Amino acid sequence: MSTLKVLPLGGLGEIGKNMTAVEYDGRIVVVDCGLRFPTADMMGIDLVLPDFTWLRERQNDIEGIVITHGHEDHLGALPFVLRELDDPPPVFGGRLTMAMARSKLDEHRLKDIELEDVPPGETIELGPFDAELIHMTHSIPDSCAVALHTDAGIVLITGDYKFDQTPVDGKPADVSRLAELGREGVLLLCGDSTNVDRPGFSISESMVGPEIERLIGRAPGRVVVTSFASNIHRVQQVIDAAAEHGRKVCLVGRSMRKNTNIGRSLGHVNPPEGIFIQPRELEDWPDHKVVIISTGSQGEPLSALRRMAHNDHPAVTLHEGDTVMFSATPIPGNERAVNETVDRLFQIGCDVITTRDAPIHASGHGYAEEVKLMLNLVKPRYVFPFHGDHKRIRLHGQLAEAVGIDPANVFQGVNGRPVDIDERGARFGEEVQAGRLFVDGMDIGDVADVALRDRRHLSADGIFVVVATISEDDGASVADPEVIMRGVPFQMEADGLLEEIRRTVDQSLEKAAREEIREIDLLQELLHDDIAAFVYERLRRRPMVLPVVVAV
Ligand SMILES: [Zn+2]
Ligand SMILES: [Zn+2]
Repeated sequence: MSTLKVLPLGGLGEIGKNMTAVEYDGRIVVVDCGLRFPTADMMGIDLVLPDFTWLRERQNDIEGIVITHGHEDHLGALPFVLRELDDPPPVFGGRLTMAMARSKLDEHRLKDIELEDVPPGETIELGPFDAELIHMTHSIPDSCAVALHTDAGIVLITGDYKFDQTPVDGKPADVSRLAELGREGVLLLCGDSTNVDRPGFSISESMVGPEIERLIGRAPGRVVVTSFASNIHRVQQVIDAAAEHGRKVCLVGRSMRKNTNIGRSLGHVNPPEGIFIQPRELEDWPDHKVVIISTGSQGEPLSALRRMAHNDHPAVTLHEGDTVMFSATPIPGNERAVNETVDRLFQIGCDVITTRDAPIHASGHGYAEEVKLMLNLVKPRYVFPFHGDHKRIRLHGQLAEAVGIDPANVFQGVNGRPVDIDERGARFGEEVQAGRLFVDGMDIGDVADVALRDRRHLSADGIFVVVATISEDDGASVADPEVIMRGVPFQMEADGLLEEIRRTVDQSLEKAAREEIREIDLLQELLHDDIAAFVYERLRRRPMVLPVVVAV
């Protein structure tokens, strides 16, 4: 038997950018291709991708990419990865997942990619792998676990899941298939660790709708409900709640409209006839006849809700008496932005209801007892906790031990470190390159730390641009240096600082002339050092200093 290698390229030691390569007999199946949103200290970076150098080197061996569900942390990196491969492999997943992938690839003008719907329960042959999708419940329809059947045994990657017994679409997870696999014998289980730190069971998605309905019934004015646009069943429940109270529904935010449309076309959203109104029609309806479903539950800078909170939305102006419900919890890292949005809404006079005030959100990830249930159903020989920071990965390992799995068979991993399994057993294999790639605008690259540092400087202390004009003959300053500043958080003119900076520039140039330094590069370096030293001396700040020397 050849070695079965399971290599996580993202999603371990973090929440986000999930991507796993499974190799057997020299052939590879990739499961998920996700991204992460940047944290506040990654200024100017739009997206973070898993470093997929290893995959690029092995691209001729890739049989296919299987996507478990349509969330960004599983699907978002797909266009960036596919366009870097010379001969992109086919992509497989549930119908909604593939519809979302198609819309993403279209935005990136990637036309010739083969996307194939695989209904849950069906198996596709990918070289030495038989890949089977198993229906699971999560906060987006069409979520699947992936069982990779090989001669060496079965690898089961759960994807994101909860065991919701009363899901909105009436289709609970395929527990009996999981149990069957358990009886057949699962070699390795790679499981979701997101909520292992929460005891008990998560609440069912269908508990949320009645609560939202009750709160809409009490609201005197307009109601805004914000949630993840991909949580299509949540959107359906809000629509139902609005209909119950004779209110119209207005979808606000690009991704909200887009996802709801995709959901409608696939039958996941079934709105009553005529319930939707356009944003421009809002003013035709009295406040108590309207529910707005909006993006922005994470306080994203350009989102619809954030703009409403700042009185800057073209179609929606909120006022006293309106109610805003946050039907989502902040993803770790977004708390500050969410709090800021909430406080702005209070300032406007809105009533704000969050998950702390009422159970208007249900997590899509199973709690500790559900993770144990998965372990007991599947009875894996080895356990490889996925989808969690180091703490959650460790706690997941403890849950595995609690249900009787030998601690020696639990692998607490990091990105880039594979688990290798052969007839002698399982162990960590040789580490490969893994980490982060940054996307800046549409460009992907290894944005050097320098760029991030520069951006931090710019945002904290601003920038000085100093233009000095010197004579080509003797290097003497021939015109007053120009000093331009942007984003500098202090008054210059009033303090006479501008004059002092000009003097510093002159002194610097005189010194250079004495030492016969004529090279523009060197002059600029000298100016930079002198000005930076002066500014730090006087102001204890380190703005970016950009000297430009022009020789005439
Ligand atoms: Zn998910
Ligand atoms: Zn996820």
